[in-house]
Amino acid sequence: MMNDVVIVGGGLAGATAAQTLRAEGFTGTITLVCQENHLPYLRPPLSKGFLAGREDETSLLPYTADDYTEHGIELLEGEAAVAINRAAATVTLAQGRVLEYGQLLLATGASPRTLEVPGAGLPGVHYLRTLEDSRSLRESLKRAGPGQGRCRVVLVGSGWIGMEVAATATTLGAEVTVLGRDKVPLAAAIGPELGRVFMDRQKEAGVKFYTETIVTEIVERDGRAAGVTTGSGSYVPADVIVVAVGVAPNTALAEAAGLSIDNGILTDGALRTDDPRILAAGDAANPYHPFIGGHLRSEHWANAISSGKVAARTMMGKTAQLDDVPYFYTDQFDLGMEYSGYSSLASNAKMVLRGDPASRKFIAFWLMPVSSTRGWVVAGMSVNVWDIQDDIKFLISSGHEVQTSQLSDPDIPLGEL
Ligand code: FAD
Repeated sequence: MMNDVVIVGGGLAGATAAQTLRAEGFTGTITLVCQENHLPYLRPPLSKGFLAGREDETSLLPYTADDYTEHGIELLEGEAAVAINRAAATVTLAQGRVLEYGQLLLATGASPRTLEVPGAGLPGVHYLRTLEDSRSLRESLKRAGPGQGRCRVVLVGSGWIGMEVAATATTLGAEVTVLGRDKVPLAAAIGPELGRVFMDRQKEAGVKFYTETIVTEIVERDGRAAGVTTGSGSYVPADVIVVAVGVAPNTALAEAAGLSIDNGILTDGALRTDDPRILAAGDAANPYHPFIGGHLRSEHWANAISSGKVAARTMMGKTAQLDDVPYFYTDQFDLGMEYSGYSSLASNAKMVLRGDPASRKFIAFWLMPVSSTRGWVVAGMSVNVWDIQDDIKFLISSGHEVQTSQLSDPDIPLGEL
């Protein structure tokens, strides 16, 4: 039987695309191939509220089971696509079924990068991508909890997920050590001055840091991971080790089908790959972005939603383009942060602060200077300042020049710049 649309990957991007097709009036058949044995769910809480035990599984669902049934979206849970035959326009599933497609959307997401050192495969070493990963980490944190002393957690990686897990595990009573390659955590994303704001808050809560450190071995005792050794020869004992050293886009299926790959599945701004019947969205895709005039892969929740919507509209023959200003957020202890903008441009821009980072309530802008006093904003990050992200996105996308002195003045509303 012909499936008008087949979506491979039941994450947020795939689910959003399927639901958007229906919301926009698509009447053909839609089949969503979900490798995981779950309804599509949200991952951000896996390192925050769900890991902490504050949120349950139902709260992770962007759509209920009824939303799929009522909208005539066929979900194939626990089914993985293993091959695409572009000439025949078919997808083969692991259990042998072959789906014919009119159009195919690849929303296969990303997978954690693994640590390639001796002992990395030992029990007690965790990664965090799926609901099961989060659940198993939570169980491990509990097991080594009250009665057996404080659970010693070593986080390998000081990026967003590592820092979030550090905060959550500390809140749960664990004794946490973060090992990071850079001098300051998060420096690659937001620079050392602002990365230090997060590091200082974590230290205040008792988190220890080893910076400019690499792990050379995970040491075994009684068949389990018992600690890590670092490049400088230190040994850090651990009950639980969490590796959070970034993710890689899941491109194997697309690559085997001969689609162009470069840091993700390459697409145009409408999310079409170089095969006009195949699109890609979410973490797996590396779409052309008109603002930066090049490809921009995003590994964030908001992009999964916006790219799912654009893919749906493109499949319906509508004019659509992924031109949103990238956005993401993090929560660590009492630091709530939102970021909008182009981090690749921000790394070469001048930082302008509105408010004092030491107060933990401030906005940082990244400005491309056009003179010593003026420039255009390419990114903005707010910490514990709320409801201003739309203004920041407008400043970025409008591209109009602002005065540095006005940008840093908290008495001038952003909407008036
Ligand atoms: P995924 O969510 O990875 O879904 C892809 C799905 O496709 C998976 O279920 C996968 O199993 C399936 N799949 C892969 N290959 C196949 C195949 N061959 N056949 C069938 N199915 C297949 N973003 C933020 O903006 N803010 C945050 O605070 C934040 N926190 C995060 C915390 C954690 C712990 C994690 C893991 C991610 C976080 N993110 C956050 C990132 C965000 O969750 C991702 O950007 C988003 O999940 C991407 O959605 P996706 O649908 O593209 O991919």
